[in-house]
Amino acid sequence: MADSNRKVLSLAMDSHHDCCAHEAEPAANRPAPTKEWFCPMCPGVESDQPGTCPRCGMALERSRGAKPTTGDNGELREMTRRFWLALGFTIPVVLLAMGGHVTSLKGISPEASGWLQFLFSTPVVMWAGWPFFDRGVRSVLSRHLNMFTLIAVGTGAAYGFSLLVLVAPAVLPDSVRHGAMVPVYFEAAASIITLVLLGQVLELRARAGTGDAIRNLMGLTPAMTHILRNGVEQDVSLDDVMGGDLLRVKPGERVPVDGVIVEGRSAVDESMLTGEPIPAEKGPDAKVVGGTLNGTGSFVMKAERVGAETMLAQIIEMVAQAQRSRAPIQKLADVVAGWFVPAVLLIAAVTFIIWANFGPQPAILYALMNSVAVLIIACPCALGLATPMSIMVGIGRGATMGVLIKDAEALETLGNIDLLIVDKTGTLTEGRPSISEVITVDSFSEADILQTAAALEARSEHPLAGAFVRAAKERGWTLPLVETFEAVPGAGVIGRVNGRNTAVGKATFLDEHGFSRDPILVQTAERIQSSGQTIIWIGIAGQAAGLVSISDPIKPSTPEAISAIHALGIKILMLTGDNPQTAKHIGEKLGIVDTVGGISPLDKQRYVAERKADGALVAMAGDGINDAPALAEANVGIAMGNGTEVAMQSAGVTLVKGDLRGIVQAISLSRATMQNIRQNLLFAFLYNTLGIPIAAGILYPFCGLLLSPVIASAAMALSSVSVITNALRLRAIRIPSSR
Ligand code: ADP
Ligand code: MG
Repeated sequence: MADSNRKVLSLAMDSHHDCCAHEAEPAANRPAPTKEWFCPMCPGVESDQPGTCPRCGMALERSRGAKPTTGDNGELREMTRRFWLALGFTIPVVLLAMGGHVTSLKGISPEASGWLQFLFSTPVVMWAGWPFFDRGVRSVLSRHLNMFTLIAVGTGAAYGFSLLVLVAPAVLPDSVRHGAMVPVYFEAAASIITLVLLGQVLELRARAGTGDAIRNLMGLTPAMTHILRNGVEQDVSLDDVMGGDLLRVKPGERVPVDGVIVEGRSAVDESMLTGEPIPAEKGPDAKVVGGTLNGTGSFVMKAERVGAETMLAQIIEMVAQAQRSRAPIQKLADVVAGWFVPAVLLIAAVTFIIWANFGPQPAILYALMNSVAVLIIACPCALGLATPMSIMVGIGRGATMGVLIKDAEALETLGNIDLLIVDKTGTLTEGRPSISEVITVDSFSEADILQTAAALEARSEHPLAGAFVRAAKERGWTLPLVETFEAVPGAGVIGRVNGRNTAVGKATFLDEHGFSRDPILVQTAERIQSSGQTIIWIGIAGQAAGLVSISDPIKPSTPEAISAIHALGIKILMLTGDNPQTAKHIGEKLGIVDTVGGISPLDKQRYVAERKADGALVAMAGDGINDAPALAEANVGIAMGNGTEVAMQSAGVTLVKGDLRGIVQAISLSRATMQNIRQNLLFAFLYNTLGIPIAAGILYPFCGLLLSPVIASAAMALSSVSVITNALRLRAIRIPSSR
């Protein structure tokens, strides 16, 4: 499936990358972007050009590139024009058809009235309704029967029959020609076309609303920016900006691209991407993200990622793709939809036969009108739109809250999870650790072991590595030369620094690599660990040269998030590579009873697999490379936006801000979206299961009720609009905010 494409997201918001030399992922391994046009009803149908869906005939929707300012929607304009013309010509047809009751028309003979109706209804059917016939014919040729097949057959039958009455009444059976003139149904054909056009107009308008989230995101990028070339400021189009350019951002302007501040400071409002309402204070060296809003300060930034590389561009791309993915709940609707049109054609045929043979006289006319009503009322679009419309609005809503959902399946699963497995470092904690204590053995100095460790850690992406790098930076050290380097996820880093074999990591990591650990140091480590601090061992030239204790504060949002998740009835288990004592201490602080420490990345994955095998629906939240296997294994992986790219690639959900309360929001969003889908599906099923038999005339023997084809077309126009309108409610539904 196309939607299983793993997207590479490079989120660098206030992350620990600030000071680590961490390069952006090369563009080469990004998947090809999705095409610009897609079918809102048939996930997977995409095109480079506007047009109609080869499967369901629906107008393709444009996702990217459509600038919000122009609001350009050719299809809507076209349909609106056709609708007004159709309406103008249909009114006289209806008046003529009512002929007898309208006094001023009393003088016209039935014959002349018939011809006049023909004259007025022909442009309606032939021109205004042309797209329906065009799509109807194409549906037959491509053997993907769809709503347009039904409309074309229905109106074609009414129009064709009436024409026959006018030009060759002799071919009709005597039973029909009771009295003088056989009735014509031009008014039915014209009214159906007009109402279906109205339905299309309303539907296209409503559909435009479902793409709001993406359009709003796209609107965040300014068109122009101020570039500094040789100290001279110049206004250029954003397309001309390249990596390395210096850009000035003035008060109240949007940050044009991703980069880093080189001069000046300001508060930057990042709420549009993270949902975080409080602006972040930024100064030199701080990362800024394109699309965020500068406050009252002014600064000069160096562009780092531009164009399709920016975080905003990638979010838009991911959301666009996610919005078109297929939710598992849609399977039933798909199966039904596959059989739907042929079944309706069959029911219409049966209706015709029954009325023609057993109906009251003139039987053939009842047969015609009732089977046309069946064809027209049975628009499968309510059924087809039910799921995709809600998914589109739901995923869009998530993006505005800083909750990026990779596909419809992740969104659907999230609401049903019963176990949340969390990683500790960088997920529950800030992942912005600092060194609190350094203990060395006699033969090594504090400066020596810290410099040596920092040299290695400068190459690591791990949050703990940042503690060393920052410490070295604060002291203004230049770091010794690193000759070899290797990172072992979930254990530590090892290599040759200045001619000495060096390892930095957990105790077992040093043991495995043959560094002996002094028993007195081991005792000290245990004492510190029981207070919830993390111990990192530093081994140099065959022995543990010392250790540092590191404190990594719990994110302020974590306690609230944990209790909210518990309140949803979801169990929480903490898995961490850090030692069990530290894990237990942090767990106790947060009210997490189940904690497992000292485990490897593969253990994490194994735990997830085991819980799944026990029948639990498992979500896993993590931030690091070490969490990636477990994230991929879980039913839904949740990555922290402050974490590594690998984690985000493996996850179904990314919390841009790395705030665990995003999980609560995502779950609420999932539940609201699924409820919305169920309402839509129920409505669509009810509409069709009631509408079709009534149109077929099932109530006629009991109460004489028949649905005229005109009423049927009004009902059908309203059915898809109701579904979309219901889906649009998701834009405003209450989701617990992150404040
Ligand atoms: P968590 O599961 O809490 O995110 P990890 O699995 O990433 O933690 O790491 C587990 C342990 O391995 C850490 O507590 C640390 O002791 C050690 N470790 C891993 N990577 C590094 C590194 N780059 N530098 C130092 N220690 C590391
Ligand atoms: Mg982690």
